[in-house]
Amino acid sequence: MTETLIPPIEESLADLDRLDLRTRMFIDGEFRDAAGGDRFVTENPATGRPITEVAEGGPADVDIAVAAARRAADDGRWSRLDPGARKRILIAWADLIETHARELGLIETIDAGKPITDTVGLDMPETAACIRWHAEAVDKLYGQVAPSPEGTIATITREPCGVVGAVIPWNYPAQMAAWKLGPALATGNTVVIKPASTTSLSLLRIVELGSEAGLPDGVVNVVTGPGGTVGEAIGRHPDIDCVAFTGSTEVGRRFLHYAADSNLKRVLLELGGKSPQIVFGDVSDLGSVAANVAVAIFWNMGENCSAGSRLIVHRSRKAALLEAIESELASWPVGDPLDPATRIGALISKDQMERVLGYIDIGRQEGARVVTGGSRILEETGGWFVPPTVFDRVTNDMRIAREEIFGPVLSVIEFDTEAEAVAIANDTPYGLAASLYTHDLDVAHRVAREVRAGVVGINAYSEGDMTTPFGGYKQSGFGGHDKSVHAHDQYTETKTIWIQLRPPA
Ligand code: NAD
Repeated sequence: MTETLIPPIEESLADLDRLDLRTRMFIDGEFRDAAGGDRFVTENPATGRPITEVAEGGPADVDIAVAAARRAADDGRWSRLDPGARKRILIAWADLIETHARELGLIETIDAGKPITDTVGLDMPETAACIRWHAEAVDKLYGQVAPSPEGTIATITREPCGVVGAVIPWNYPAQMAAWKLGPALATGNTVVIKPASTTSLSLLRIVELGSEAGLPDGVVNVVTGPGGTVGEAIGRHPDIDCVAFTGSTEVGRRFLHYAADSNLKRVLLELGGKSPQIVFGDVSDLGSVAANVAVAIFWNMGENCSAGSRLIVHRSRKAALLEAIESELASWPVGDPLDPATRIGALISKDQMERVLGYIDIGRQEGARVVTGGSRILEETGGWFVPPTVFDRVTNDMRIAREEIFGPVLSVIEFDTEAEAVAIANDTPYGLAASLYTHDLDVAHRVAREVRAGVVGINAYSEGDMTTPFGGYKQSGFGGHDKSVHAHDQYTETKTIWIQLRPPA
């Protein structure tokens, strides 16, 4: 269904003029200006030009939103609603997101620079699918009865945490919101969510659709604005019970401080990565490996937490694989994100582009060799475009192999033995994802166990699907996992009720 939704570029341009953007915060069921009346400009990364102004919230707005979420949590208008009714509302919401996929995808494309084929064809259907998946679980989540001694009954039930704060990044604005909202709402919480300030627009429309679907007022509240004010106010708020953060490791660390300095709220962290892709010497179909490698690092312009940014390849296959990757890149056109042919759109901002170009300079200075890409392109558009860039002759101690670049930059590192490949893969502060390519079942199983990462793809780049948890080891985060039933654990408290039965009279 999604393919037919992806508009030809002329239609997208016509639709742009018809877009009615939501630019005010959404609190207690209605759109509002920021308490201080401030607004900030959000721009189109593909043109560098302003799209509109968005309400710039601050701590006072977080207070108002948290008060609304608290009232909704305390009076049980959501948590005590019949589970079947909650399920129906969430499913209706997912359906609305799907039927508005084209409008929402267009909003996401102009706000985030992401190719329209991805936003309409993937991001929005996945956003709807995530909400629907969790919705379907609402009336299938059971508690337990413990094997307690005769004369007692002990039940173990799950209760919502209460008010969840969510702070999300700009790379998958709608999907990251759904990864938090789906499980948090399915388990009966109310939410105050802050999108990244560069990408507020899709979420504001999505929550409006939530209201239309029947979400009671105050259950989902959106405060827009900068991380340093709105994000910090959420992190420190004494009346937020749990905060779910997706973003950089640096800011994730701050959330631990915020919680420690305030009310010890539960902190869930989904952070950065420097994920390895290991290609063993026995692989035969290098064309298919190259296609997977390209998706792993160049999909979403490399602005992907699980991007496979380190290609660790057996010395015997490196030259052939590099050739295969170069051929594969012929089918990765960079350009106008509104063009359905585009696979690589614009980086999110000028700052991000400069950061990526800065790392490319560092790679050159460190002695790595640029095989393809390596400089800004399409400057005449005013947008922030960097083509797929591949560095050969990288060693794992170089900064381009250690630090998260969050752009379309692949570092190629050679190895000779399996032990060496595993050691290189694990020699990183991160542990979000990994992929490995081999036809040898023993090697595949052994290495999948030895690599310290939350998600390991074998013979494919994959983050799994809604049925599998997603989350990292080491400095890629902790505290829980997004997706799957595991996500429900992180938004619930476990309650034991111990009943002493009176003996027969
Ligand atoms: P970021 O850490 O800069 O920002 C994330 C969010 O935190 C934004 O909403 C931002 O406004 C807010 N923020 C910024 N400074 C803050 C502060 N001082 N206090 C409170 N909040 C603050 O990250 P980003 O640049 O938006 O996104 C890129 C990062 O996100 C990458 O490191 C990437 O790996 C990570 N990421 C991780 C996952 C995952 O599931 N593990 C998914 C997507 C992105």
